[in-house]
Amino acid sequence: MSHHKIEVKNLHFTYPDDHEAVKNMSFVIHHGESVGIIGANGAGKSTLLMLLMGVLFPDRGEVLVGDVHVTKKTLPLIRQRLGIVFQNPDDQLFMTTVYDDVAFGPRNYKLDEKEVAERVKQALDMVGIYHLKDRAPYKLSGGEKRAAAIASVLSMQPDVLIMDEPTAALDPKSRRRVIQLLNGFKHTKIITSHDLDMTYETCQRIIVIQNGEIAADGPREEILTNEELLDRCGLEMPLSLQNCPVCGHKKSVIRLAGTN
Ligand code: ATP
Repeated sequence: MSHHKIEVKNLHFTYPDDHEAVKNMSFVIHHGESVGIIGANGAGKSTLLMLLMGVLFPDRGEVLVGDVHVTKKTLPLIRQRLGIVFQNPDDQLFMTTVYDDVAFGPRNYKLDEKEVAERVKQALDMVGIYHLKDRAPYKLSGGEKRAAAIASVLSMQPDVLIMDEPTAALDPKSRRRVIQLLNGFKHTKIITSHDLDMTYETCQRIIVIQNGEIAADGPREEILTNEELLDRCGLEMPLSLQNCPVCGHKKSVIRLAGTN
């Protein structure tokens, strides 16, 4: 499973206006890990994801997926291995039906229609929206669109699932469904989010980014209960880990950690 490994070595990226958004980042994500990437607005999370996916290329350092360097030449292979769900589902859905959107990736792999149909059904069943297969994506609700966008990535059966703000603008029920879905995906996951409660429930490991640099990298119980670190990085402890605002009762980290 070494091809599921992602290695970031001394990564550095500067936007054309000379803004240094990623500075000397290094980390390794191994097969099966669930990693939350958190940080305040403008910390560099989306830029990092774009560097992982080969949407942007570093001015120094490198990204390896398995043994393959992310370069323009290797992009087709990288895109097969890494599936990204963008923050805005409208960036991902462009066909006239949900079915065709979810079938788009498998058809691109030149699979026959029978296999395409199987992959579409499997992906739509996983996100619980098979009944919406003939609907136009632009007519769906926010939560339904998010589910369709996730299905359009799952149908390509990626080794690594990358999600940018998967719970943004979702109602509690849709948010819960996305959390369950993420916990059901057993391959490697990389999730960026400001929803630290969701991050706590779905990611075992947390990387904190501040001003384009890695401020901390460790187990969720260590990072997400470290008030001083979170405060320094412009973040707050997940609500589920904070003391009760009425009686001050301290919530149990151990109990929450067992919910996964
Ligand atoms: P947010 O949580 O607000 O989405 P983020 O952590 O994803 O933020 P990025 O979008 O990666 O942060 O931005 C990192 C830094 O790079 C910010 O200071 C941002 O202003 C800057 N930046 C982003 N895109 C560009 C661009 N196209 N040109 C110049 N600077 C940019």
